[in-house]
This record gives sequence, C-alpha cells and structure tokens, in this order.
Amino acid sequence: MKAAISRKIVKNWANFPQIEAEIAHPESPEQLSELCRQWPQFIARGNGKCYGDAALSPRICSTLAFKKILDFDAQNGILECEAGVLLSELLPTIVAAGWFFHVTPGIKAITVGGAIASDVHGKNHPEKVCFSQWLLSFELMQSDGSVLRCSRTENAELFYDTCGGMGWTGVILSARFQLMPLKSVRMQQKTRRFNNFEALFAAMEAPQDWPYAAAWIDMASGGSRYGRGAVFFAKHIENADAKLEYPKSNTISVPFYAPSWLLNRFSMQLYNTRYFAKNADRDFETDIDSYFYPLDRLLHWNRLYGKKGFVQYQFCVPQAHAFQGLKAVLNYLKNAPDTPFLTVLKKHGPRPAEFRNSFPVEGYSLAMDFPKTRHIFQTVRALDDILTPLGAKIYLTKDACSAPEMAHIDPRRFGADKFFSLLKGRLLAP
Ligand SMILES: Cc1cc2nc3c(=O)[nH]c(=O)nc-3n(C[C@H](O)[C@H](O)[C@H](O)COP(=O)(O)OP(=O)(O)OC[C@H]3O[C@@H](n4cnc5c(N)ncnc54)[C@H](O)[C@@H]3O)c2cc1C
Repeated sequence: MKAAISRKIVKNWANFPQIEAEIAHPESPEQLSELCRQWPQFIARGNGKCYGDAALSPRICSTLAFKKILDFDAQNGILECEAGVLLSELLPTIVAAGWFFHVTPGIKAITVGGAIASDVHGKNHPEKVCFSQWLLSFELMQSDGSVLRCSRTENAELFYDTCGGMGWTGVILSARFQLMPLKSVRMQQKTRRFNNFEALFAAMEAPQDWPYAAAWIDMASGGSRYGRGAVFFAKHIENADAKLEYPKSNTISVPFYAPSWLLNRFSMQLYNTRYFAKNADRDFETDIDSYFYPLDRLLHWNRLYGKKGFVQYQFCVPQAHAFQGLKAVLNYLKNAPDTPFLTVLKKHGPRPAEFRNSFPVEGYSLAMDFPKTRHIFQTVRALDDILTPLGAKIYLTKDACSAPEMAHIDPRRFGADKFFSLLKGRLLAP
C-alpha cells in the first residue's frame, strides 16, 4: 500500500508564510522509502511548530504516524522512540519513572524529529547545551530510501550534520537519547523585576546558583518604562515526591483568528503594564509544566495575531558584542514602526565545535514576536543590518524573512538535493 497523499494550504506556527502543498502521510518505513524514490524533492515535517518556512515545501512528508516508544530503560533513563512522538506524549511515562528531558524548549507539542532537526534549546543552555547533546543515536532515511544508523561513532559526520540540519540530510525515523533523573515535579522559582534593561542584563550576567533562567523585556511601553522586565530563575526541588505524576495544567483556547488590529502598540502597553505589575520580586514553588511550558496553557495563541500571522525574530549575538547588540536593537525598535509583543531573552554557553549547526553560540539570544505588518520586512532588514556586523545569527526554525548572511549556514554543504524546504530555497537564492 502507498502512503496517503492530500493537497492543502500548509503553514507553521506563525501562520506566515503559507503554501499549497502535497502532504504524504506514510505509516511505515517502507511507504516512506517508496516516497523517497518517487518524489524528486520534499521536506520532512513534524508537528509544524517551527514558526516560519522551515517545514514548508511544495511536497511535504509528515512523520506524525511514527509514534511508537521502541524501548525505555527506566533504570538508566535511556529512551528510544520513533521520530513522530511528541515530547508531551513522552512526559507522563518518563516523569512517572523519575526522568525528565535534559533540554526542553518552551513548548511540549513538538516531535522528537523536530527537536533534533532544529537542535532545540531550553532555559538552561549554559549548563546543558541543546537537545542533541543528549542524543545517543538515530536512524536516518536517505534520499535513495535506505536507512543509516548515526551516532558519535557511526556515520559521525552525518550525525552532527543532522543535529540542527533542518531536515536537509534526510528523514529521522527514530532516536535514542539520555534523560535526566527527576526527584520531584516541583520547582523553586525566583522572579526578579527590573526597572531598566541595564539592571536586567546585569542580573543575567551575575553568577547564579539557578540552572534555568529566561527574561521578559517590555519593548512596547514608552519613556523610562521601555526595556524594563523580569527574570525568571528556577531550579528543580530535590526532596523526593511520594509519587511522581506529570502535573496537568488547565488550558484555555483562542477559538478563532483575532482581527489584525487587536495587537497594536496601545493594547501591548496595557498587557505589558499588567504583566510587569504581576511579576514583582517573589520566591515561590511551582511545577514543571507551569515553569517550562507557560505558553501551552493558551492553546492556539498564534491566532491572536490574526490571519496574516506574525514574524518571530530570534537572534543570538556573541558574548563579546552582546550588550552592545541588544542595546542597539532596543534603541532601534523604540522608534520603529513595528513593536514586538512577546520578547524572551536567554543566556547561552559555549557551543561544542562538532555541533556546528546548532543555533546558540556563547552570548545572548532575544526572541521577539512582531505582528505581520506591511513594513515588517523593512524592520527585519534594519535589524539584520544592525546585527550582521556583530556576528549575530538568526534561529532558522523561527525565521521567515531574514537575510541569508544571518543564517551562518550553507545549505549546499548538505548535499542531498532531495530534501528541500522554502527556507533552503530562500537561503540559496542569489
Ligand atoms: C510556543 C513555542 C515555543 C518554542 N520555544 C522554543 C524554545 O524555547 N527553544 C527552541 O529551541 N525552540 C522553540 N520553539 C521552536 C520548536 O521547538 C522547533 O521549531 C521544533 O523544531 C518544532 O518541532 P516540530 O516537531 O513541530 O517540527 P516542524 O516544525 O514540523 O519542523 C521543524 C524542522 O524540523 C525538520 N524535521 C521535523 N521532523 C523531522 C524528521 N523526522 N526528520 C528530519 N527533519 C525533521 C523540518 O524539516 C523542519 O526543518 C518553540 C515553538 C513554539 C511554537
């Protein structure tokens, strides 16, 4: 039996760009292998939670049917599963057995294949690096439909190319990775609020006994309030729970696309004023779901940006230019026509040399969500112009329109023409 194929409009999390595409839904490696031989070009797609054009192509292969947990060594915390399993589907099982992910992004509805292909990072990059740091091996389907096992010792070049390789080396079928021991689902959180960016940055720079940290910056309010924010530090609680059970958080859903005028500078200022007031200095206990995945509580929050969607601009600027680069971006956006609604600042540690495709380099990343206005491309170009001379790079899994120089990657290096996305085409464009 052949893989089912449908044709529809496909978009990723930011709802921009969109493409009418053929999507294949293979249910077995044999069906996928046949597709590899038949289709001249396509890209693998997990759960479509990248923001821009990374998982878009005229032909797309969904991996969501590859859902099995293949092996779980609960003694040593080693898990092997198919690539289409979502982190959220693994959490109840691994947590109940006393394990957690060493590295998790701020969303749990992503596939293991997507986590490797984007080499996702969390709020603990200085200590734990990226998802692939904890990867032991994976199986990769290549352009001729054959399957290769890759690890640090088998097909090592392909292993490192695939981590953060945006699906350009093949289709990851399954992966085996190391988990971290977890004694409690509770976390200790420390929130510290700052009236200006300089003080917030100093707090991020200061040596901390807190393995997790991420900051929010108010970039919508005017005057002296611009650049204020809060840092959310956290650590796992070490006292063992009587019974480990993944905590369930209540969710609400944005039921339809909001009108595109809803998010404007004024509504953003109102929201940020409330958010700043809510996040006064405090130390409290929370749980792993609330700390790691706060955005997951508002289902379909991307609809708040309306049908035109939004653009996320997440860049990482090397430590030597970090403060200067961040200040330059803040200064530019203070009077620019586009205002970021949500902003997240993270500190990053050194990138191991062999993981050459991973996004974070030692320094700072800032992620900013902009409504997709008619001038957003000019704003992105201006930001690229500020950041390129500082050696900053863009996060490809969030990108939709940055200059190719910001990618710091040459897709030609990956060889296989078979695996093609709009992102790859954009980076290759003359
Ligand atoms: C609310 C939100 C918060 C986020 N927070 C973070 C964060 O804190 N840190 C972070 O690093 N990222 C973050 N992300 C980004 C997200 O983690 C990545 O984009 C992730 O790759 C999405 O996984 P996916 O399964 O949805 O993959 P998709 O979006 O479907 O695909 C992403 C890329 O992976 C490739 N790919 C997917 N599956 C395979 C496969 N089996 N074989 C080969 N290639 C494959 C695709 O071709 C594409 O290039 C966030 C996203 C959202 C929506």
